[in-house]
Amino acid sequence: MGRSFFIGALILIVNLLHAQEKAPLLKGKVVLSVKQGTMDCDLVLSDIPAVKDYYIQINTGMNLRYIRNFENDYNYNYDKSYYDTISGESFLYSIPDNTGRAKVVRSAYRFSYCGKFPVIGDTLTASDAGDWKGNIAFNGYSVRADGRQTGWYPVLYDIKNDKSYHDVRYDITVECSDCSVIYVNGSDPVQGKTAHLKSDEPKEMMLFAGDYKFEQVDGTNFLNPSVSTEQLKQFSKMTSDFKKFYEKKLGIPYKSTITYANTTPISKNNAWMFVSYPTIVTIGRGDYDMKSFFSKEQGDWFRPFMAHELGHYYFGHYKHFNSELGDLMGEAFSEYLSMKATAAFYTDSMYKAKTQEKIENLKDMQPIPFGKIKSNSDYKDRELYVYHYGPLVLMAIEKEIGQEKMWAWLHTILVLQVESEFTDYNFLERTLAVTLKNDRQLQAIKERYFMSDSSLANAKEKLK
Ligand SMILES: [Zn+2]
Repeated sequence: MGRSFFIGALILIVNLLHAQEKAPLLKGKVVLSVKQGTMDCDLVLSDIPAVKDYYIQINTGMNLRYIRNFENDYNYNYDKSYYDTISGESFLYSIPDNTGRAKVVRSAYRFSYCGKFPVIGDTLTASDAGDWKGNIAFNGYSVRADGRQTGWYPVLYDIKNDKSYHDVRYDITVECSDCSVIYVNGSDPVQGKTAHLKSDEPKEMMLFAGDYKFEQVDGTNFLNPSVSTEQLKQFSKMTSDFKKFYEKKLGIPYKSTITYANTTPISKNNAWMFVSYPTIVTIGRGDYDMKSFFSKEQGDWFRPFMAHELGHYYFGHYKHFNSELGDLMGEAFSEYLSMKATAAFYTDSMYKAKTQEKIENLKDMQPIPFGKIKSNSDYKDRELYVYHYGPLVLMAIEKEIGQEKMWAWLHTILVLQVESEFTDYNFLERTLAVTLKNDRQLQAIKERYFMSDSSLANAKEKLK
């Protein structure tokens, strides 16, 4: 009893530490026009942590008026360079010191900048593809921008620790003369042309403002929904089923009201979903938007995608992942959660079909095991590696250690505080070691799955 009390207390402490990490504060004013495609921002970023080496990311479509000191009496000279880790959405800014050879970071900066973006409201002249998560998209009636990837607001990035400060506390005013609803992650949607939005909880400031309707149904927000209220009820029920399932299994509550935003792309054919907690965005034209969840042929098949996005609350939002294994961990664990939720709420045959599909997809692949990954390029085919290979390995490990230990491992990954800020292979192995407390079992898993060039064959064998 003493020991389990100790572990309980430890978990409580790490949960508190997690909650207390102080995030930067963003204040100021944003002026938008969804018809003109314009965005004009005057923002102060303060409580900036004393990072050693950094960039501040701001979208490439934004023209800087200035970066100024907090007291507002002089401008800084700044360095600007290009960035291409995702798809080059942002320029990188930093303030050089007097020698020009090193960077300085102050606890606060004022930014003023504006941008004008193409408004693409119909399909006549739209490209076939060419919309993506990191795009600031004006589709004629709304603007959609995630936070981290678009960098529509200044996002600090700590180079040394591979850590992005896109989750910020905020206190901002948004004005949009041609909007009827203004929404930023972490606040409720506001009806009107001006909104004062504030969040003391750090959030990635995903923005969705425009001339659209919203509904709140059974505790879930729906922005611009394209299905009936009756169907939204089903949607809400599915959401809360998945949330409760994850909360129970992982022992960590969802803190926010989930918001679904539904919108059209600025291209003809793009249709996809992304998550920027607590918002889940569905993007598509015609039947390819949120209506896909209700089509007879596709509905069952689509629910696991929703379960996957909800899984990112834990693997991606609650816990951020970085380093060369970060992408794998964020996606493979969310996909694993989705598989478990699918099995719990729908049929076993669906679970088996999804498993079989992953095995099929990997038939020509020779994946490098987790323990030998040196950089993201070692994934070779990212899609196959993170969504198919990774989850299969996790499912095989579950068969080795049992469901209960598996959930305990996931919990450890989410709450364990380690000295290094890197969620690299050492972190992955350490979390499993802490969970199993069984060296023999750990060695066996390392040999079969983490280090073996036959890890995929071993996983398939185990899952037979
Ligand atoms: Zn994902």
